[in-house]
Amino acid sequence: MKLIAVCSVLILLLTQCSNSNSQTAQTVTTTKQTMETKNPYYSHTDTNTLDVSNDEWKKVLPDDVYQIMRLKQTERAFTGKYWETETQGNYYCASCGNHLFKSTSKFSSSCGWPSFFEQLNSKSVVFERDTSYGMIREEALCGRCGGHLGHRFDDGPPPTNMRYCMNSIALDFVPDTVK
Ligand code: FE
Repeated sequence: MKLIAVCSVLILLLTQCSNSNSQTAQTVTTTKQTMETKNPYYSHTDTNTLDVSNDEWKKVLPDDVYQIMRLKQTERAFTGKYWETETQGNYYCASCGNHLFKSTSKFSSSCGWPSFFEQLNSKSVVFERDTSYGMIREEALCGRCGGHLGHRFDDGPPPTNMRYCMNSIALDFVPDTVK
């Protein structure tokens, strides 16, 4: 009787695990489709730069994305969805879909935010001097829509020695397994 009970629990756990994986893939696809439907500026292929007002962004972005990317807020460390993920795939701008990073340039950092040592190409991320909060920092912005992504520091690993410290909310991750 005990053996049957243990087997049942194992089968239940395995089933839930498998459902969870397929639900994750489905959720990513659904999120992308939802964003493209609700947000006319979202595209993984259009590289033309955007000049969209905050009033317009407020209408098409989820509130948490708007707060971080248009009002330059910062998510709390160790709370974002990507700070410790090692899944292979690509990272896009959560506002406009611009391709920003490959997972191969992501590294484990103890800072609590997803960190990269290299941007996809010279245009994917651009920079501005940020003197807020009594600090001098290099603000990292999406090269297509100008949305706030985070900051870049020069204490990263080789070969660039750079650390792109990003807000998870500003990123839209698509695993390699999702077509
Ligand atoms: Fe963008």
